[in-house]
Amino acid sequence: MPTRPSGDTIRYPAHHLLIAIGLALALALLMLAWPQGEDGGGAMPVTETSLLLIEEPAAMPAVAKGIVPHLSFAEPEVDATPTLPPEPKAAPAWAWQEERVRRGDSLARIFQRQGLRAAELHAILESGSEAKRLTRIHPGEVLQYRTDDNGQLLAVRYEFSPLEAMEATRPDATSRFSSRLVQRAPETRIAFSEGRIDSSLFVAAARSGLPDAKIMNLANIFQWDIDFVHDIRPGDSFHVLYEEQWLDGEKVGYGAIVAAEFSNRGRVHRAVRYTASNGQTNYFTPEGRSMRRAFLRAPVEFSRISSNFNMRRMHPIHNRVVPHRGIDYAAPTGTPIMAAGDGVVTTAASHHANGNYVIIRHGEQYQTKYLHLHRFGRGIRSGTRVRQGQIIGYVGMTGWATGPHLHYEFLVNGVHQNPRTVNLPQAEPIAESERARFLATTREVMAALNEQRSDEQVALTTPSSAAGG
Ligand SMILES: [Zn+2]
Repeated sequence: MPTRPSGDTIRYPAHHLLIAIGLALALALLMLAWPQGEDGGGAMPVTETSLLLIEEPAAMPAVAKGIVPHLSFAEPEVDATPTLPPEPKAAPAWAWQEERVRRGDSLARIFQRQGLRAAELHAILESGSEAKRLTRIHPGEVLQYRTDDNGQLLAVRYEFSPLEAMEATRPDATSRFSSRLVQRAPETRIAFSEGRIDSSLFVAAARSGLPDAKIMNLANIFQWDIDFVHDIRPGDSFHVLYEEQWLDGEKVGYGAIVAAEFSNRGRVHRAVRYTASNGQTNYFTPEGRSMRRAFLRAPVEFSRISSNFNMRRMHPIHNRVVPHRGIDYAAPTGTPIMAAGDGVVTTAASHHANGNYVIIRHGEQYQTKYLHLHRFGRGIRSGTRVRQGQIIGYVGMTGWATGPHLHYEFLVNGVHQNPRTVNLPQAEPIAESERARFLATTREVMAALNEQRSDEQVALTTPSSAAGG
């Protein structure tokens, strides 16, 4: 008998309305900030292409640990509070002063510019291991400090990010500095994005408001099921719940993807994030099967393939070898190539037709081959043991190739198979001891994902007995 776990804790604000308000505000700001007519007005600044290549396990330890039991959706402050001062300065005896790091600055230079003593800088750097971070400062970051009446330094505060600062203080000029790292825990909110692909995944993502880094995460989650280089088609769609980090009413970053659905060529793939009792976080299907498999669907780092990658041009262009027993991945020279699975390199050599090539043996049955490499990955030679996802080489056009691409072959018991369709061994499911907890947590999350979507709902694959009517 299915019990709905505290379903009332999910709040669903009029999300779309809020998005609309947000967009309108953003647009208004843009109009103000952008000189009219320069870019034809149509050129929206696309979300920054900060390529976060790896799924960060738990971005912000304090808050983002595991699945938030109560999903609270991102809710932009509607009651427009006037811009508050960043921090209520609790009437300090001595006012803080501020200095922004300029290009080519060192701390010594800043101190000099501000008329602070070099000896005090030295004393601060000696005040503890946290202070050592002051040796790595970047333009744009802000140094705050305050002095006593005689201009002797009493405190230095350096913000590395909105979330992290270093503070060195002393009660008076005769005391020693003590330093500490100040970390602020952002508030985690859950945001939702969805998109339908018509030209490319990145275009759809940008339109949906999902930053590129999250699209990378999304592709990483489904990389065992979907070949993101070859198999994305117009009409494919995605729905994503993900964490945002907010601080003082401002979005300061993103956390992990909490749940996602990807419809690819009519097949619906679903994944939900789950942190087990032992603290390990992984993605599972809503039924509790691991998303991971023994082999990646595509051995190229999709994330490194240009975001302008055009789907219409991604059909294999090197079909002159007949019969063609592999798959070609057209990609820029230098695109990293990953081992599709754990194994041992049996060959890393050069050949007049294959160019630089690598063969990996995966256990008794499986073998993968990678041809035309620009060069080998670090330490890749015959006998090297490799892990799934490890970089074994880079895309090139050595040997018989008319353009940079990876030629990839997948063999089962010595027979060529289509790596995009071959049935891959499934990884182990959720531990039996975790199952009840898993279902209780993830059911709510999947329901929330389904609730947010704007298109027709695809019924979740739940046992028919759970149908409530
Ligand atoms: Zn080929």
